[in-house]
Amino acid sequence: MESINPFEIVKQQIDKCAEIMHLDPSITSMLKSPVRELHVSMPVRMDDGSVKVFQGFRVQYNDARGITKGGIRFHPEETIDTVRALAAWMVWKCALLDLPLGGAKGGVICNPKELSSYELERLSRAYVRSVFQFLGPERDVPAPDVYTTPQIMAWMMDEYSIIAQKPQFGVITGKPPALGGSLGRGDATARGGMYCIREAAKVLGIDLSKATVAVHGYGNAGYHAARLCSDLFGSRIVAVCDSMGGASSADGIDPEAARECKLSTSTVCGVPDTELISGDDLLEMDVDVLIPAAIEGVITSRNARKVRAKIVAELANGPTTPEADDILYENGVHVIPDFLCNAGGVTVSYFEMVQNFYLYPWTEADVHERLDKKMTAAYHSVVNTSREYGINMRQAAYVRAVERVVEVMRLRGWV
Ligand code: GLU
Repeated sequence: MESINPFEIVKQQIDKCAEIMHLDPSITSMLKSPVRELHVSMPVRMDDGSVKVFQGFRVQYNDARGITKGGIRFHPEETIDTVRALAAWMVWKCALLDLPLGGAKGGVICNPKELSSYELERLSRAYVRSVFQFLGPERDVPAPDVYTTPQIMAWMMDEYSIIAQKPQFGVITGKPPALGGSLGRGDATARGGMYCIREAAKVLGIDLSKATVAVHGYGNAGYHAARLCSDLFGSRIVAVCDSMGGASSADGIDPEAARECKLSTSTVCGVPDTELISGDDLLEMDVDVLIPAAIEGVITSRNARKVRAKIVAELANGPTTPEADDILYENGVHVIPDFLCNAGGVTVSYFEMVQNFYLYPWTEADVHERLDKKMTAAYHSVVNTSREYGINMRQAAYVRAVERVVEVMRLRGWV
């Protein structure tokens, strides 16, 4: 039976990587265990005067390569295993992009759509108070993730600075630019994915100006992906969706019209001049590029055979199960794996850390140019490894990332 517990998937991926790289069992065991994790309960005063207790986590998965880095998710279905998996993927992501950082992730079980802005602020501050000793600009630096925003980063930075009794802008990234955030961080995840798609199209001989694109998920990553595919390449967005359903049109969907529809009605269903489509059907559309940009576990052994896209660019974390990976590989689908494709976010977060340390903001053009260089180099190193070893793109990304993590663990005398 196929597991969709994300941490079980991570362990399977590590086992596969260990087999390819002939890793020592002690190394494999270290790679499969988070070095540190914190579980917290947070009482938060609600607007009606009652107190609600929220559960939260911070997992620092591996800090061999340095300060740990990774977002905080606010999600009703958050579990410790999801956070562990996401923290592990942060380790590989930072290593693959050769950022001098380890990996972490945080999560709070909550539904932000049901919280007022004041409740969200109190919850964000409560989280920082609960995990304060774990965080710090030279220890562990969070960032936005699913349902967390630059405004939430600003509150968290403020709370941390109050407790530390000094301005600590560098404790968190993804802040608003007025508060030490980096220019270009807002669309960095999608933009990094675009650089990968551009390089993949060159490798596969696809003309992106004539390409069709379907985007699964229309949050920060999905919206910017649709916008940038259309602006940078002139590709046609033929379908978009969110958790409530989707919209399709063979003539193309204007990404801004889809965004306005979502802002006013909370869903992209019903964009003018489009037909309704389910999220599941979107994944099986005959398009050149499919961009899963929502959550884990959407391409499984159940639907992988029906995926007809030439390129699957994973902006979401963990959208494809290992069984589905094998099927896509057999069918010749070119998968740009999550911790490569969506690494633009943490790469610009790293740029933000550097700017904060130096108190010297960069221009947006500088950020884009440096991001392009990093993503392009990482993409080609993965494609080359995939060809050299005859393994799929995800396994190739694992080999490149894990060899960097193992090298430092050896140098430090851990293994
Ligand atoms: N949450 C994003 C990710 O999964 C960004 C993490 C960061 O910027 O630290 O990559």
